[in-house]
Amino acid sequence: MRLRLAKLAAARSTLRFVPSSSEERREALKDLYQQARACTRCPQLASTRTTVVFGSGNANADLMFVGEAPGKNEDEQGLPFVGQAGKLLDKLLEEIGLTRADVFVVNTLKCRPPGNRDPAPVEIENCQDYLMRQLELIEPTVVCTLGNFATKLLRADPTGITRLHGREEERVIGTRAVRLYPIFHPAAALYTPANVEALRRDFARLPELLALGPPRQPGAEEPVPELPEPEMAAVAVDDRQLGLF
Ligand code: URA
Repeated sequence: MRLRLAKLAAARSTLRFVPSSSEERREALKDLYQQARACTRCPQLASTRTTVVFGSGNANADLMFVGEAPGKNEDEQGLPFVGQAGKLLDKLLEEIGLTRADVFVVNTLKCRPPGNRDPAPVEIENCQDYLMRQLELIEPTVVCTLGNFATKLLRADPTGITRLHGREEERVIGTRAVRLYPIFHPAAALYTPANVEALRRDFARLPELLALGPPRQPGAEEPVPELPEPEMAAVAVDDRQLGLF
């Protein structure tokens, strides 16, 4: 009996709280932010950061962007994409009729790597619980990865962004299926006009992807196709044929 109770307690403690209302979701995100703020899993980043850049936007967003890591401006202000790359992101959003208030923006790393160096594999691994929980809480339909780091992490595959950008795919991340949509990182497009145009073209498809709604979730039943209405004139049968009285 004692063993059964212990097992039950262990199972409960591994169960994740899934918010059922928008208020609960916001509260759960705030709790997660408090945890991230105190994080010291990466000793170097914890000692050099000014702030932890958790992410910002609409907690109920259908569209979530996942960037790489905070830069200098983000580290100072505590918000993602507030520098030049962020201005381009805002412009591209505006062109498809959206603002930051419609989406949620996060990074693969929540702390700035010193000198804006690339995130180290161990840092990505240390930080991924926060990203996964953000995905679980916000429940976006479309997850748009910006550049190589976010794309490789969420696809769990080393294929690079040049091959993948602009191609959506259904992916199960954690327990949920999403429409994963890798595009170039805005910072990579800043100084290369051809990349801005590619980014703009990829961005232009976002409304269409959002309009598709969520993909079928793991374990959900296959939808039963609707049968066409029979042509009544063509199937007119004699009542007696059917054995009707
Ligand atoms: N680049 C990123 O990947 N994230 C930011 O927040 C800013 C620049």
